Amino acid sequence: MYKEFQKHLAKELTDIKEAGLYKNERVIRTPQRADIEVGDQRDEVLNFCANNYLGLADNKRLVEAAKKAMDERGYGMSSVRFICGTQDLHKELERAISDYFHTEDTILYAACFDANGGLFEPLFTEQDAIISDSLNHASIIDGVRLCKAKRFRYANADMADLERCLQEAKDCRFKIIATDGVFSMDGNVAPMDKICELADKYGALVMVDESHSAGVVGPTGHGVAEQFDCYGKIDIFTGTLGKAFGGAMGGFTTGPKEVIDMLRQRSRPYLFSNSVAPAIVGASLEMFKMLGESDDLHTKLMDNVAYFRDKMIAAGFDIKPTQSAICAVMLYDAKLSQEFAAEMQKEGIYVTGFYYPVVPKGQARIRVQLSAGHEREHLDRAIAAFIKVGKKLGVIK
Ligand SMILES: *Cc1c(COP(=O)(O)O)cnc(C)c1O
Repeated sequence: MYKEFQKHLAKELTDIKEAGLYKNERVIRTPQRADIEVGDQRDEVLNFCANNYLGLADNKRLVEAAKKAMDERGYGMSSVRFICGTQDLHKELERAISDYFHTEDTILYAACFDANGGLFEPLFTEQDAIISDSLNHASIIDGVRLCKAKRFRYANADMADLERCLQEAKDCRFKIIATDGVFSMDGNVAPMDKICELADKYGALVMVDESHSAGVVGPTGHGVAEQFDCYGKIDIFTGTLGKAFGGAMGGFTTGPKEVIDMLRQRSRPYLFSNSVAPAIVGASLEMFKMLGESDDLHTKLMDNVAYFRDKMIAAGFDIKPTQSAICAVMLYDAKLSQEFAAEMQKEGIYVTGFYYPVVPKGQARIRVQLSAGHEREHLDRAIAAFIKVGKKLGVIK
């Protein structure tokens, strides 16, 4: 039977390649950081496409904390949380996350993908409505699909369209608005103040995924809730430990204690998947301690974003307005975006070109992700390469 199936897969794979959508893994031979070595030639490149916003992925203090936790609490848990997979460290980390987001309780998952995947189905039924931003992350979309609640979708950050959905859903028992905090393609933030106002007007709950915003957005980097002063108005937060917060892995849902308690009873990725390993939990605790001691990394990140943006705009590039660490350099042409990224790689700068269907037709761009791990010299090298390639390909004069 496999022969038939093999032919089928081979054809589909060829189609993916012909559509230019085939994904190759790039192999890195160093820790994740600003300057990495890639490929067989050990080419040195500067990395501008990791979610390593605070530059913590190779942080010495976190590596030491991970080693210490491994020495003291072992390598693995070999259990789901509720059977025998909860250590004191897991409880401490959940407390630290609740403190960070000013919430009552937190539940840890192996990934934010699981947090979102396991969020809606335990809480809502066919009597309820989930109202979701059209650019929400795949894991929110999957989580919504697993739930029997009625689904409504509004155009990205479009408050008139959100209001339309809220009106259409008005007869549903409970309504929840679900949004990313920062949208990863444009780097725009969700207008949480307006979302919370509409939620209040129509009696809806609010859920925000702070994966790209926590550690980055807001006066001290606590996320969109801090940015828009929406504490007490946002009901449920999800987030990842795999981006700004150290970059290893792990996710969480944090919010009112009854919500978290219900998730501990019924959320399938929590009930049927392994506990986060002690090393990651121990290092994450140290990470929250570090962020509590000083805002320096966040300040450096935002300085880097401002520096990069200003220099790029001065050079004549078309940059999407951003309030996050994501900078979209607009090219509007799919082929050009791929050529541009390839030329940048030759200059030793690793950035990604995105085009349809990842972004809307005619909206092709290079996405640059800045980090507190970048030094001025790294930024200057990237900007110089952008200018060189931009002139060569006729994007700027
Ligand atoms: C990255 C991301 C996730 C997935 O996080 P993992 O912990 O890697 O599973 C979920 N939601 C959003 C908005 C993200 O950006």
